[in-house]
Amino acid sequence: MKKSQLRSSVLLMVLSFLFSVSWATSLSTSSSGDLISCLQSNSNNVTAISQLIFSPVNASFLPIWQVAVQNTRFLKPSTPRPSVIVTPMEETLIKTCVYCAKKHGYEIRIRSGGHDYEGLSYTADVPFVMLDFTNMRSIDVDVAKRTAWVQAGATLGELYYKISRETDTLYFPAGVCPTVGVGGYMGGGGYGNLLRKYGTAADNVLDARFMDVDGNILDRKSMGEDLFWAIRGGGSSSFGIVLAWKLSLVPVPKKVTVFILNKTLEQGATEIFHKYQYVAPNIDRNLHIRTQVFAEYIGNTTKKTIRIMFEGIYQGTTDTLLPLLYRKFPELGVTREICEEIRMVQSTLVFWGLPSSTPTEILTNRSAIAKLNNKSKSDYTRAPIPIRGLKKIWRKLIQNDESALLMINPFGGRMADFSETAIPYPHRAGVLLQILKTVNFNGQPSDTTPTSLRRIAWLRSLDALMTPYVSNNPREAYSNYNDLDLGVGSTNYQEASVWGERYWKRDNFKKLIRIKAKVDPHNFFRRPQTEAGTCLRNRNYLRTVSSGTGTALGGSGSNFYFYETDTRWIPAGSDSNFYFYETDTRWIPAGSDTGYPEPAVNRNRAKELIPDFLTLVVLGFLIFIFTKRKKNTPTP
Ligand SMILES: Cc1cc2nc3c(=O)[nH]c(=O)nc-3n(C[C@H](O)[C@H](O)[C@H](O)COP(=O)(O)OP(=O)(O)OC[C@H]3O[C@@H](n4cnc5c(N)ncnc54)[C@H](O)[C@@H]3O)c2cc1C
Repeated sequence: MKKSQLRSSVLLMVLSFLFSVSWATSLSTSSSGDLISCLQSNSNNVTAISQLIFSPVNASFLPIWQVAVQNTRFLKPSTPRPSVIVTPMEETLIKTCVYCAKKHGYEIRIRSGGHDYEGLSYTADVPFVMLDFTNMRSIDVDVAKRTAWVQAGATLGELYYKISRETDTLYFPAGVCPTVGVGGYMGGGGYGNLLRKYGTAADNVLDARFMDVDGNILDRKSMGEDLFWAIRGGGSSSFGIVLAWKLSLVPVPKKVTVFILNKTLEQGATEIFHKYQYVAPNIDRNLHIRTQVFAEYIGNTTKKTIRIMFEGIYQGTTDTLLPLLYRKFPELGVTREICEEIRMVQSTLVFWGLPSSTPTEILTNRSAIAKLNNKSKSDYTRAPIPIRGLKKIWRKLIQNDESALLMINPFGGRMADFSETAIPYPHRAGVLLQILKTVNFNGQPSDTTPTSLRRIAWLRSLDALMTPYVSNNPREAYSNYNDLDLGVGSTNYQEASVWGERYWKRDNFKKLIRIKAKVDPHNFFRRPQTEAGTCLRNRNYLRTVSSGTGTALGGSGSNFYFYETDTRWIPAGSDSNFYFYETDTRWIPAGSDTGYPEPAVNRNRAKELIPDFLTLVVLGFLIFIFTKRKKNTPTP
C-alpha cells in the first residue's frame, strides 16, 4: 500500500471512529432526554426531581452507578450502563418511573444492595433505567409485636443494627454479609446462620408493599396469595418492585456462643469433614456450623494443603454447647478456650471476619466492607460425599492458583419442616449441604485476562468434577447465587427449564410462570433468566378473548385469558378457534383466525369430548351384556 493511501485509510478510520462515538453519545443523551422529560413532566416538583435523576451527562452519574457495583468484575468500561439512574425518595417517583420507562421503550433494572452475582441489577444489554433504592431504607422495629417493616433499599447490616438498638433478644434470620440489600436477598429466599432453627428469611416474611406493572401499590391482601408466594423466593424483580417487607422477628438468647477453628489435611481435615456431613445437618437446631475450604501453601514451603475453617454459632451457652459437641462430634475438638459468648449482632461481625469487639455501627457503613471480585456457582448435596470424592475435590482445589474458595452451609432442622412448594425456594428436606464455589479475579485488571479465563474454566471443571456427588434431577442451584452459565434461553419451556428447574424445581417453576403470565403479561419486568420468557417472550402469542371456562391465567387488565391444564387442549375463550396448550415443553399458540400456524392438534372442546363419550357408551354396552349373560347362566 502507498504511503498516501495508508494515510487516507487511517484518516478514514479515525473519522469514522469519532463519528460513531459522537453519534453514540448524542444518541444516548437525546434518547434518554425523552425519558427524563417524561419523568420531569409527571412530577410536581421539577427542582427536587432533578436531584434524583441522573443521565451520563451528569458528573455524579458514574459514581452513583459504581458505588453499589458490589462485584468489581463488572466495573470494566465495557459493562453496559443505564441510560438513566433514578434514586427515588418516595413511591410516587417509582410509579412515574415505571410509566415513563414503558412509554418510551426502556427496560427497568432494580437495585437494592447491588450484590447480584451476575450484575443484573445494574447492567443490561438493552437501553434501561436503573431504579436505585439507596434513598429508601427506613426500618421500623416493633419489639412488642416482634415485627419490622423494612424498605427495600436497607441492607442486612442496617437491619441487624436497628434491631440490636431496640433489643438483644430478637433478630432476623438472614445472611451475614452486612451490605447485602433486603430488596434482592428476600426475593431469592435468603439463608443465614439461623436457617436450621427458623428456615429461610423469606419463610419469615409476613407482608410486603409491592408495585405492579401498572403502578398499583399492593399489600399481601390485595396482591393475593399467589403473587405473595412468588415474590418470596421466585425472584421478585420478575414480577414487579418490592417497596418494603414486613418481617417476623425471631427470639434469640441474650448471648450466643461462637467458635472458629481450622483443620488441615495433616490434622485429619478429610475425615472430620466427612463426619461433618452426617452431624451438622442433623444436630440440635440451635447449632449451625459453616465451613470454608481453602487450598494453600504450608508455611514457606512449596507444598500445598487443604485448610477447612469450621465456624460455629450456637443459640445457647458454652456450658450446653460443649457436652453436645463432645457427644456428637468430638473429632472437631472444640474447647472452652475457643468459645466466645457474645450478642447475636456481634456474631454477624465474627462471621464476616471481624473481631467481636468491632463497634456494631460498622454494620451500617456501606463502604467499610470490601467489595468482591469473583464468579460463583452453587450446589446442594443430598448424600454425604465419600472420602474418595472429597479427596478428588481437594486435589482439584490444590491445582488451583489459590483463587478458589468453597463456602458450605449445612441444612436440616427447620428447613425440613417446610414443603418444597411452601414458597418458591425448594431446597428443603433431604438437603445436607449448600455449597458455594467461587473463584476470584484478584490481581487481574478484568475477568477476561488469560489468568481470569483460566480461573473461570477451572471453576467450570470443578463443577463437572462434583457432578456425581451433588443433587441431580434436577441438579439444584440457588437462585440468589444466580449463574448465567446455567443458560438464559427462555423461548420455550424446555430451554428455560434448564436453569429454572435448577433454581426452583419443576412444580414451583411452572407456578412462577403462570403467576408471571397473570401479573406481568407483557413481560415488562425481565432479566436474562426470567420465568416468563417461556410463554410470553413472543407477545404475539397473547390474544384478546373475553370468556371461557377454566382457570384464568391471563391478566384481566389486558383483557386476555388462557386456561391452565397440563394435559389437554382448552379453548381460550368464546372464540373457539383459538387455543393454547401448555405441554411440558412449550406454549403453543393455536387458532386459524389469527394468522398463526395451525397447531398440530386443533380441536374444539366438544370434539375433544366425543371420543370419551363413545368410549363410555361402548363400555356401558359391554357391562350390560356381561351382567345379562351372568344372570342367564344356570347355577349348578
Ligand atoms: C458477599 C455476598 C454475600 C452473600 N451472602 C448471602 C447469604 O449469607 N445468604 C444468602 O441467602 N445470600 C447471600 N448472598 C446472595 C444475595 O442474597 C443475593 O446476591 C441477593 O440477590 C443480593 O441482593 P441485593 O439487593 O444486595 O442485590 P441487587 O443486586 O440489588 O439485587 C439482586 C436482584 O434482586 C432484584 N432486586 C433488588 N431490589 C429489588 C426490589 N426492590 N424489588 C424487586 N427486585 C429487586 C434485582 O433486580 C436483582 O435481580 C450473598 C452475596 C454476596 C455477594
